Amino acid sequence: MFSIHDEEKIISLLEANGHKKFRYVQIENAIYKNLVTNFDMIDTLPQSIRDLLKENCSYNSLSLHSEKTDPEGQTTKFLFTTHDGKMIEAVIMRHLSGRNTLCVSSQAGCPMACTFCATGKLGLIRNLTFAEIIDQIMWAVHHLAKEDKKLRNIVYMGMGEPLLNYGEVSKSIHIACCQKKLDLSNRRITVSTCGIAPRIIDFARDFPQVSLAISLHAPNDEARKKIMPVENTYPIDVLFSAIDEYVEITNKRIFYEYIMINGVTDRLEYAKELGELLKWRLAHVNFIPYNPGEGTDSNGYLPTSKMMIKKFQDTLDRYGIPSTVRHTMGDDIDAACGQLALKEEGKSLATEVGRTLGKTTNKI
Ligand code: SF4
Repeated sequence: MFSIHDEEKIISLLEANGHKKFRYVQIENAIYKNLVTNFDMIDTLPQSIRDLLKENCSYNSLSLHSEKTDPEGQTTKFLFTTHDGKMIEAVIMRHLSGRNTLCVSSQAGCPMACTFCATGKLGLIRNLTFAEIIDQIMWAVHHLAKEDKKLRNIVYMGMGEPLLNYGEVSKSIHIACCQKKLDLSNRRITVSTCGIAPRIIDFARDFPQVSLAISLHAPNDEARKKIMPVENTYPIDVLFSAIDEYVEITNKRIFYEYIMINGVTDRLEYAKELGELLKWRLAHVNFIPYNPGEGTDSNGYLPTSKMMIKKFQDTLDRYGIPSTVRHTMGDDIDAACGQLALKEEGKSLATEVGRTLGKTTNKI
């Protein structure tokens, strides 16, 4: 069985069974434009082709395990099960401006082990296929359509490090942006990486219009090493030489994610170092108030106070670097940044998933 999103395989299947290529256009329209939910609803196709598709393709690679919306109706978290029983999460964020964003997962679990991140505690379970990534997007598109809303932005900031699953993530971006399919603007897609330097350059060449976010979280090697093991492989000078090459190729501003953890990342001297690091670069810093999450509490991390975030931001301001303090959405349903760790109704599924499915040892 292959996915309905696998254009090449569907076209080969049609041709092998003596059907004309235009049948694929009908399938494509039905899935991505008319948003039909199963093969039988594709009424532009004869029954014989619908049966052929049913025998050979899966319409959706994910089944919904649970869904939860916060009381304000701003955030909806989906917990999905893959065909082989892995669990992944995706989050819709409805901004007050009317913009709707989906945060997608690119891996089940994550090998990068950032100390402040609940997902990092799971380790890598496996890479997702492009179809599993697209099916998260399709789920959100259908869900929003029922509310008479459209998906506008996609951020690859859910479970996993997208640049470690580059091939599948790339295919999913192509499908999301293809005019005949989901037709989202390249510019409204953001891929976030903790700093896989060589892939940043590939990404610049392959997707010069797609936005890049760097999870920086500390302005020097010593501080970064304490919270992000990736620093041991790609220290700050290696990371920034890739970043500078990225900007040379794309001429695009980079978003730097900076988590505010009391006494760990929020020292004012770090604000100055960050200012020095970014002052000549095309940069925008997003401050993320730390969200205590399942599995990270043992670190004793606490969120930085609002007053301290303001002081840190003011210091950075003096270097002329624009910044935003991210409004935390979904923290009451464990859908905020760094909280995607298979939690349902306050109960962690991570241990169960890890035990049942077996975690792999993870290396960058
Ligand atoms: S912050 Fe991102 S890269 Fe780091 S462990 Fe979490 S999901 Fe992985």
